[in-house]
Amino acid sequence: MRFGVSFAAVAACIGLASSQAWSSEMTTPLRADQVRFVSLFKEMVETNTTASSGSCTRAAEQVAARLKAAGYADADIHLFADPERPQDGGIVATLPGRDPHRKAILLLAHLDVVEAHREDWTRDPFKLVEADGNFYGRGVFDDKYHAAIWADLMVRYKEEGYRPDRTVKMALTCGEESSGLHGIDWVLQHHRDWVDAEFALNEGGVGESDEHGTHVLLGVQTAEKVYQDFKLEVTNPGGHSSQPVKDNAITHLAGALVRLGDLEFPTQLNDTTRTYFTRLAAIKGGETGAAMQALVKNPQDAEAAALINRNKAWHSMLRTTCVATMLNGGHATNALPQRANANINCRIFPGDSVPYVLKTLTEAVNDPEVKVTVVPPQTLTPPPPPLTPAIMQPIERVAAEVYPGVPVVPKLETFATDGIYTNTAGIPTYGVWGLFVDGNLGNIHGLNEHVGVRELFLGRDFLYKLVKAYALGKGR
Ligand SMILES: [Zn+2]
Repeated sequence: MRFGVSFAAVAACIGLASSQAWSSEMTTPLRADQVRFVSLFKEMVETNTTASSGSCTRAAEQVAARLKAAGYADADIHLFADPERPQDGGIVATLPGRDPHRKAILLLAHLDVVEAHREDWTRDPFKLVEADGNFYGRGVFDDKYHAAIWADLMVRYKEEGYRPDRTVKMALTCGEESSGLHGIDWVLQHHRDWVDAEFALNEGGVGESDEHGTHVLLGVQTAEKVYQDFKLEVTNPGGHSSQPVKDNAITHLAGALVRLGDLEFPTQLNDTTRTYFTRLAAIKGGETGAAMQALVKNPQDAEAAALINRNKAWHSMLRTTCVATMLNGGHATNALPQRANANINCRIFPGDSVPYVLKTLTEAVNDPEVKVTVVPPQTLTPPPPPLTPAIMQPIERVAAEVYPGVPVVPKLETFATDGIYTNTAGIPTYGVWGLFVDGNLGNIHGLNEHVGVRELFLGRDFLYKLVKAYALGKGR
């Protein structure tokens, strides 16, 4: 059921910026369900959900309205917010399954987005703009792509009269991008029954395309690195800058930062990354493939590591990394500094402990004047979820349908997600975006965040089918 509606026509009728120069891809006909999806997606992207000036609660209410219009009972929708943070609300919705003995599936996504300033962006970050075959806007990928697709498939399943065997739950929450309250953590603590599930599908696990946009592999996130900040601080009595001494807080800190810049944690592999590099070696072939094979056999192979490390994503998948991200020092232009400090952001390889990283940083700094401490809270370090056929086979089956010939590869993602809370709570959580992006990850968290229009619709088809493959049941 294809409709002869061009994207430009759709854009015009849903009010996208009509001044955009439409690329030739814009004449690709959209199906009626895709036209409806764009209106939901547009509403979600254009609802500001930043921590500073947005409202996840409003976005959650918009989703609730669509679910109710599709026929969900009030009892199957929970709108919630911590009373102390009324703008950081979320929604949990349930499509009841027929078999009460089978545990539910949880579809998880976050509604909040990273800050975006109009003056930094080429376009208004809170307007859904289509150009060059991409959708642009803050959150079009991370994570409103996922949130909108989950909401959309819950609506479609209901309208179709689809009756899954097992209950499908959806949780769209706030606070994933900020260091404040994480919505899913709050729900787990206060209403565990709303989201209890056998496993959860979450953000992560991106598809990798080459420079021509050809799909290379579909990643499934089966492990993630742990986020932890550390602080370097130097204090000093200071004094008048006209009579300097060598013992200077900023100089001590600068030396420590240079030494940390040279620090490299040892190469290591786990089940996920061994499988990832083994499968990728076969895809890449040549010198790169051979180096990957060598590294899987012997992680201490320095020559192979040097070649693989040229790729910053692979480099980061193979070790704990720590990098200076913020710097403060001094109190007056004409005074010797009394205090200087820096934030060191570490992404810890699963299994490395926070005390081990602290010890390694302290040794690399090698200056008793520089105090190295853990910035609280100390992060949770849940075990990675098991890599089972029950999880992987449906993904491989649906991928063969939507992305024929593209291998499915388990991945360790180098960023952290709300999966840390669900995994800690005993709900094994897998990152399945089902979306292919360029090497720059659609510049998420940065300027001009984007997602390919064609890729978005493929990812949506993939996830719609995948959730049905897990939930089984009857219906269209
Ligand atoms: Zn995210």
